[in-house]
Amino acid sequence: MLKMINNPVPWPNGAKVAVCVSFDIDADSILHLAHPDDAHRMVAAQSFLRYDRISVKRIVDMFDHFGIKQTFFFPAWCMEQYGELVDYILKSGHEIAHHGYIHESPNVQASLKDEHHWLQRGIEVIERMTGKRPSGWRAPVYNFSEHSADLLAQEGFLYDASLMGDDVPYILHSKSGEVIELPSHWGLDDWPQYTYLPEMNARMPTKSPDAAMEVFWAEFEANHKYGGLWVSVWHPSVSGRLARCDRIASMIEAMMKKGDVWFATMEEIALHVAACRKEGTFTPTIEPMPTYAEPIDPSVFKPGT
Ligand SMILES: [Zn+2]
Repeated sequence: MLKMINNPVPWPNGAKVAVCVSFDIDADSILHLAHPDDAHRMVAAQSFLRYDRISVKRIVDMFDHFGIKQTFFFPAWCMEQYGELVDYILKSGHEIAHHGYIHESPNVQASLKDEHHWLQRGIEVIERMTGKRPSGWRAPVYNFSEHSADLLAQEGFLYDASLMGDDVPYILHSKSGEVIELPSHWGLDDWPQYTYLPEMNARMPTKSPDAAMEVFWAEFEANHKYGGLWVSVWHPSVSGRLARCDRIASMIEAMMKKGDVWFATMEEIALHVAACRKEGTFTPTIEPMPTYAEPIDPSVFKPGT
């Protein structure tokens, strides 16, 4: 058989793919961050984003219906605003992971100290509201900085879910230690498929749920064929809308029907990867971090040098 992944992970019980239907509960944090002076006047945009209050419960109920545990990435400010959603998620045993404080981008912070501040503030809220330190983190808008891997290792994170550098998990190796990367990519993100929200500068042509699902499903088929990892980066205010969520339920049914799929939380996937690595059944790529600590030599851009 054609081999496209050189180091597939031996997933539990002979599964051919690990699946986590992960959601980022950004709610209206992104609107306040983008429009700090005017967001309170943008009521329709608020209502679009605050739809998370309806759809998160729908998604949790759907996961419960299928008997699967999954992961929700949650900016800590949103957890404080929408505490009932935190309780609803935890009651069903799903994982809550770190997604910034108010969805601030790590790679635009003024200093390493500022990035560390937001990371610690999020950890503090998650620990207080869930009773457990977060195991994982996803950088808001994938905006991982040159310091992020090091800070995650310092704070004892098991995994990151922000990067796009492989089909299977890999290791981010920084001076403070290692973090397991559980990669995804823009092709598994719902924002480019559906989001029309002018206040957030998003003007994607709205696709039908079937058309969007063709993209996500093609990724699933290929990962199932070659032994990869399928992690969605979806948003309850976008994919949790009725017709799209209904289509996701059909997708999960179809995945279950196909068989040999391991549905797991991101934490479970990372723990499994760590165990396989320890027993020598999986050899991940080791990525030294940061990739670049500073801009590359500017002379390379000049002709004739
Ligand atoms: Zn987000």
